[in-house]
Amino acid sequence: MLVILSGVSGAGKDTIKKELMKRMENIATLPSFTSRAMREGEEEGVQYHFISKEEFEDKIRKGDFYEYDLHHGNYYGTSRELMSNKIKEGKIIVKDIEVNGTENLLKLLGNDTRIVTIFLKVEKEELKRRLIERGDKLADIELRLNRLEYEESKIGLYDYVIKNDEFEKTVQIIMTIIENEKRIEEENQKRD
Ligand code: 5GP
Repeated sequence: MLVILSGVSGAGKDTIKKELMKRMENIATLPSFTSRAMREGEEEGVQYHFISKEEFEDKIRKGDFYEYDLHHGNYYGTSRELMSNKIKEGKIIVKDIEVNGTENLLKLLGNDTRIVTIFLKVEKEELKRRLIERGDKLADIELRLNRLEYEESKIGLYDYVIKNDEFEKTVQIIMTIIENEKRIEEENQKRD
């Protein structure tokens, strides 16, 4: 099962993902590839594999990605190999992907893999505060705030939309969603 967490950068996806990994069994995540520069506190191979634009374009040509997208001036993509290995292991994969990537994955994997899509909503002012606190540069903050409207216009793609205004409540809601969806998946598998 693949659980996709979307919502603008700064909506809290990464913090929530880490918390789910701590609290739930059989949950895994996998790093994406990106051509953006590493932020302070980030490590190679944890949330991302950091590669150059040229290396990324080479991987696109080789068909290494299930999906990729160019946003905020950088490439982001999901490795075909990493993703299919994790799915074969029977893990619940929680992945932080923006709206275009979600749309592509739903088209590509929709019939083979159970995909649960969750959109985390956050108010513009709150988002601005978080991005400033995170130490993002002003130009980067502008790019991310400008993307908010576009991302929210795609909300219809999602199974669940959650207002992420209280961390503990959001984590509890997502845990309940994952447990229920897992149960439905197991019942469907028994029936097949
Ligand atoms: P950030 O630069 O703040 O880490 O991430 C920017 C955006 O890229 C986020 O909205 C995040 O969800 C998205 N993103 C991260 N990994 C992937 C991926 O593999 N594919 C796509 N399409 N988007 C991704």
